[in-house]
Amino acid sequence: MSQKETFIGAIDQGTTSTRFIIYDQSFQVIGSHQTEFTQIFPHAGWIEHDPMEILESVRVCMSKAIDKTTADGYNLDSGLKAIGVTNQRETTVVWSKSTGLPLYNAIVWMDVRTSSICRRLEEQLPGGRKHFVETSGLPISTYFSAVKLLWLLENVDAVKQAVESGDALFGTIDTWLIWNLTGGSEIGLYVTDVSNASRTMLMNIQTLDWDKPTLETLGIPFEILPKIVSNSEIIGNITNRWPAAGVPIAGCLGDQHAAMVGQACRKGEAKSTYGTGAFILLNTGEEIIKSTHGLLSTVAYKLGPNAPTNYALEGSIAIAGAAVQWLRDSLGIIKTAPEIEDLAKAVDNSGGVYFVPAFNGLFAPWWRDDARGVLVGITRFTNRSHIARAVLESICFQAKDVLDSMHKDSKEAVSGDVEFLLRVDGGASANNLLMQIQADLLGSPVARPIDIETTALGAAYAAGLAVGVWTEEEIFAAEKLQGKATIFHPKLHEDQRKKRVDSWCIAVTRSFDLADLSL
Ligand code: ADP
Repeated sequence: MSQKETFIGAIDQGTTSTRFIIYDQSFQVIGSHQTEFTQIFPHAGWIEHDPMEILESVRVCMSKAIDKTTADGYNLDSGLKAIGVTNQRETTVVWSKSTGLPLYNAIVWMDVRTSSICRRLEEQLPGGRKHFVETSGLPISTYFSAVKLLWLLENVDAVKQAVESGDALFGTIDTWLIWNLTGGSEIGLYVTDVSNASRTMLMNIQTLDWDKPTLETLGIPFEILPKIVSNSEIIGNITNRWPAAGVPIAGCLGDQHAAMVGQACRKGEAKSTYGTGAFILLNTGEEIIKSTHGLLSTVAYKLGPNAPTNYALEGSIAIAGAAVQWLRDSLGIIKTAPEIEDLAKAVDNSGGVYFVPAFNGLFAPWWRDDARGVLVGITRFTNRSHIARAVLESICFQAKDVLDSMHKDSKEAVSGDVEFLLRVDGGASANNLLMQIQADLLGSPVARPIDIETTALGAAYAAGLAVGVWTEEEIFAAEKLQGKATIFHPKLHEDQRKKRVDSWCIAVTRSFDLADLSL
């Protein structure tokens, strides 16, 4: 088989957009399509997606990317060997097995409607917020799927009835997509993978099975949970109602885990993905490190049913690129996201302005769902550029907070003699100023690969690995094939960095306890 005849596809179903990307055997993109879909905000703090619109976005991306690539002369009919799926994690759907229709909109990972459920669990359960940390690696938080499922069970009659009659299926977006792509209510395969399952709070991260005591404690029936598979194996074929009919789905990973694979992060290496949120994961190898500094323990990846499981420490930041979107869509300060770079560059610093984008509270390492956004240090001197710069800095300060915690938790996991280097990717990492600020605030270099769509690339790697298109060694050496990364070196003086970080910490404390301000 010649290289020109072998292709792998990746469905990347993100928080704000869906992409389908097709790669050749030397990991080069030969075609892609991307489309945004509706963000539904029914109340303050609530965020939903329409699962049917998500399906449609996948269909459109697949069919347009395949059409474009075929028109460019590639023979995908016989050449497309496998498809990998990667997705926004934690976002929760419950649907009817018999009709295939969702019983409620998908509740998105950022949604905080479950804060009272979390408070209740923390009060009732021994160990409070940390009750499930030993088994799941996660604190009780609005972030994870289990509490979103509890909300649906307690508040939506259609969900309650479907669970009672045995007609309900629960899933994260990977499960919803794969069930539909493989035949839906007739023959759809009902699976999730270890990385997505590790974000539900229901999986035991040591055994990689649903944790029966957790299900009992929360009153969640085992029957509504999918089968857990590895990140790289043939799951099943796409049915003929979809583009790419007959092609096997052979990889499935949550987006941040896919990015780790796409960045070829081995033990001791970390990556930060700057999309809607920002997600920093450090590969801790086969060891589960329990954080004492506000981070999560999670599965990094398991590349095959019999492959070893790599774990990660993770710090999640809810609002990163979303703050740039807010400047664009809600304040109208910029017309497009990339415009923020020139606007922020017009000033040398933020003029003492600090922005904390705690729109829905703060995740790692603070875990404060009572926090709300603040903009502090404003004077008559402050202009749009200072605010734009403060927004970019806020993304980098949050990532620094997480990396500081990571270094404290894992002195040994981060290789001591080699200088720490952060691998970056995601839509907002295209911003050079953002990356320079990140290197300055960290005091260590930042490396951006040529292809910043590492999430889709990681899903393609996993799928190609399962069908034998490439080996694990080739995947982990692929960065050499793809060309030189851009390295951003820190330029800020240590004293300056320390002063700025101290001011940021003051700004963060100002954001606490603001959730109940009256309208
Ligand atoms: P996701 O996968 O979460 O949907 P992406 O990786 O596509 O996100 O990144 C999109 C996000 O990055 C948006 O929130 C957008 O505001 C932000 N973004 C895109 N380009 C830039 C840029 N040049 N500078 C800063 N932010 C950007």
